[in-house]
Amino acid sequence: MRNALRWILTLAAAVCTTSIAAAPPGWVTADRLAAADRDPDNWLSVGRDYGETRFSPLTSIDATNVSRLHLTWFHDLDTRRGQEATPVVVDGVMYTSTAWSRVLALNAVTGEALWQFDPKVNGQVAVNVCCDLVNRGVAVWKGRVYVGTLDGRLIALDARTGKPVWSVLTVDRNRAYAITGAPIVAAGKVIIGNAGAEFGVRGYVTAYDAATGKQAWRFYTVPGNPAQGFESPAMERAARTWSGKWWIDGGGGTVWNSLTYDPKLDLVYFGTGNAAPWGRSEADGDSLYCTSIVAVRGATGTYAWHYQTTPGDVWDYDADQTLTLASLVLNGRQHDVVMQASKNGFFYVLERRTGKLLSAKNYVPVNWASGVDPKTGRPTINPEARYASTGKVWLAAPGGLGGHNWQASAYSPLTGLVYIPAQEIPFPYLRDEKFERTELGMNVGLDMAATSLPPDAASRRAALSGLKGYLLAWDPQGQHEVWRAALAGPWNGGVLATAGNLVFQGTAAGDFVAYRASDGARLWSAAAQTGIVAAPMTFAVNGRQYVTVLAGWGGVYPLVAGALAFKSGHVVNRSRVLTYALDGAAELPPVVAEPPQPTPLRLPDLHSDQRLVSEGASLYARHCGQCHGDAAVSGGLTPDLRFSRALVNPDFWNAVVNEGILTPNGMVSFRKELGTTQQQAIRAYLTQRAAQTDETPPLTHPGN
Ligand code: CA
Repeated sequence: MRNALRWILTLAAAVCTTSIAAAPPGWVTADRLAAADRDPDNWLSVGRDYGETRFSPLTSIDATNVSRLHLTWFHDLDTRRGQEATPVVVDGVMYTSTAWSRVLALNAVTGEALWQFDPKVNGQVAVNVCCDLVNRGVAVWKGRVYVGTLDGRLIALDARTGKPVWSVLTVDRNRAYAITGAPIVAAGKVIIGNAGAEFGVRGYVTAYDAATGKQAWRFYTVPGNPAQGFESPAMERAARTWSGKWWIDGGGGTVWNSLTYDPKLDLVYFGTGNAAPWGRSEADGDSLYCTSIVAVRGATGTYAWHYQTTPGDVWDYDADQTLTLASLVLNGRQHDVVMQASKNGFFYVLERRTGKLLSAKNYVPVNWASGVDPKTGRPTINPEARYASTGKVWLAAPGGLGGHNWQASAYSPLTGLVYIPAQEIPFPYLRDEKFERTELGMNVGLDMAATSLPPDAASRRAALSGLKGYLLAWDPQGQHEVWRAALAGPWNGGVLATAGNLVFQGTAAGDFVAYRASDGARLWSAAAQTGIVAAPMTFAVNGRQYVTVLAGWGGVYPLVAGALAFKSGHVVNRSRVLTYALDGAAELPPVVAEPPQPTPLRLPDLHSDQRLVSEGASLYARHCGQCHGDAAVSGGLTPDLRFSRALVNPDFWNAVVNEGILTPNGMVSFRKELGTTQQQAIRAYLTQRAAQTDETPPLTHPGN
């Protein structure tokens, strides 16, 4: 059976390669995308096909010869922030985005740069971005390359030159919107969402005419102020599930990651993020269409159905993870389904046409709900998990970073398994009773100081022992685990599955690994010199198969997790495109020795005032920790403030914190947010933390 399939795929590939030989650069069409399985040499969209399977029919590299896989070229990137994109390859040209929403076209065989595009995003927008200055990929369509930018633009580039053809602003810049997700092209339209549910925005997806950039439709995921009227009956229905004046905080529900399309049904599927802010009470209602999987018509953007994974979410259980379209046999019947390993720890299988729940089962340990009622589709929520109602700290499993985050899962129709980059990162929640919205930074309504990890060694050890990361092979038909590969810690890369009975995944520890897809045997690995979080892809040119991954440690985890991020991996960011082939002959340059650790700062006159230090800890957690790490320990992306010369040089402190001289790097002025006394308190806290460096892991050497 498998040999027959392989033969058919190979024959189809040969036919396809011949027929498209003369196509202009980046010539992806609806027919071509719909027939992606018969065109295995190309990887035509971020998820490879409309169904976001991230499964390649290529078989030249397989479980019997993968040991011969070796680097064949690499391309150094010009940014040192998280690299989360999966490249697209069309007819021998690779298109990818990188950090800061930059775009690159490379010769897919040699790695030679064909063109680069920098949208020149202003550094001050970094303060509107929760989860690193990342971009997850481009869409390619009829000779154009589409990218969403951190500052909210959607730009069409000429695939031949990288020159902009059109650009539209997709957001209101008076609100803290950002774009980190990849667009898709469906029904001739480029479809893009946005991020910012932690910052008080109203989520939506917008479709633009691919040729002109003219807006075709917009679907809001949450209702606006009823006094201004509802855009649609779907918004009117949703408004009944909210209470209070939710629109002041925007509502949230952002579509910041996965978009999928079924051309036969003309349905666009997307997941939505948390309601804003997190620390709301049960009485606030279900808050539709937040934390939901939603389907809308591709032609018009009108509501088709929704399934809410977490009604009344207060744990940041965004449903923005990979949405995979597949056909499964369930109870003896064939079903066309959409499935997701959701952040909240449950694996959902839904009927693709109607959104009806077919099954749900937890794929990681879950304590916020005991299960999902198959009749109502609603989770049975543990009352103790409703910390906003109990007023007590709740240690949630999963935590807000999810059992599975944006790192793409893959589905192999050959093994019938979904491969999930799973993790266990418990997180303590306590509602902030004094919550007030601020202009700068996150507005989540949690007491962040209370959730911060105590700096003493015993507490750290206890927290570290609960952290896990593993690649999980999950049977979506039987809803059970088939195998798992344990990793050093959480926050590893997305996944690629191939017909060569292989699964590829990069790790936070800096290894790029191949497993046998059927049983999880670890068959091959290569050192990437940095943590990998992006998902790999594969393609072929002139009969030779290649495997590519973007390397470059980053994302939200190293920004916020502080010392915990060290458990997972290789925290130095060396951003590169890495491409492997059988008998490849390239080598990465040797790692240059790191500079010696800086001397800890000791300023006893400042940190002797414990009241000031304590106030500083709270202010740090509220204003600084989202980028500089829990308990002032950098996870490798941003400067470790315990070693900042601003602590010993008041002029430099003033220049950075008040004058904003590092705005181009993302460190904006906090003059309006923090008064002189508050700044002094933060300095006192940081100098105390600097004196405690024996108790915390040492500084690494972040870039920018
Ligand atoms: Ca969120």
